[in-house]
Amino acid sequence: MFESCGETKRFMNPRPVGDEPYVPTVLEHRANIYTHGLFVLPSVLALSLLVQLSQTSQHIWISWIYGLALILLFTFSTAFHITSYMGNTGRLMRFCHLGDRAIIYVVIAASYTPWMVLKEHDMRDIIWLTWLATVLCVFYQFSFHDRFAWLEIILYLALGICPAIFLTEMPDKEGVTEVAVSGVIIISGIVFFKADGVVPFAHAIWHCFVSAAAGYHYFAVIKYLYQAKVFFEASHEGTPPEHLNL
Ligand SMILES: [Zn+2]
Repeated sequence: MFESCGETKRFMNPRPVGDEPYVPTVLEHRANIYTHGLFVLPSVLALSLLVQLSQTSQHIWISWIYGLALILLFTFSTAFHITSYMGNTGRLMRFCHLGDRAIIYVVIAASYTPWMVLKEHDMRDIIWLTWLATVLCVFYQFSFHDRFAWLEIILYLALGICPAIFLTEMPDKEGVTEVAVSGVIIISGIVFFKADGVVPFAHAIWHCFVSAAAGYHYFAVIKYLYQAKVFFEASHEGTPPEHLNL
């Protein structure tokens, strides 16, 4: 449908044949860069806020794990799309591409870590297992990158869904709904992850789903695990908590 209109070729190229990678149009390249590049600085600020909201040493090291994962997510993605746009096909582009794919596994594990360590101590075994699975998935990514495209999707889904099953068993369900909603957002976006050449700007749309899910999840983390509810209420009354150096 889209190929029939000459104007839309600016917005989308034909689907690749066989194992060839999709070649985005110039506008798609730019959209891919902007839709994640715009979140690099906010993710740095997000880490800073997590550290400021931390009240224990445990909060601080989890802030760094979760915050750095978010920063690397947007940084690797932006770096990969910039190198791709510049036509770089060498080692740098390959490293950024591998990092772009592998960091998704790390972000999944890093997103579960605050819930399983700060909220429910009995789930620490599960988070260790999640990180072990993440290391194996990253190893797979660097060893068999793009060789089995659908296995990559299955691994993302397995790593994303399995820990959630344990999360629903927590006695205190506060925040579980938000985690589930962010999971549904990102799973919905997978439709676009595999729609290059079918839907114009499909990859940039996928980026938007990733950003929305990451943002929604982040606010659930600071609200329920970093007591941001207290922070917002206190700020509203003009008296920020004493441990915040604002
Ligand atoms: Zn991307």
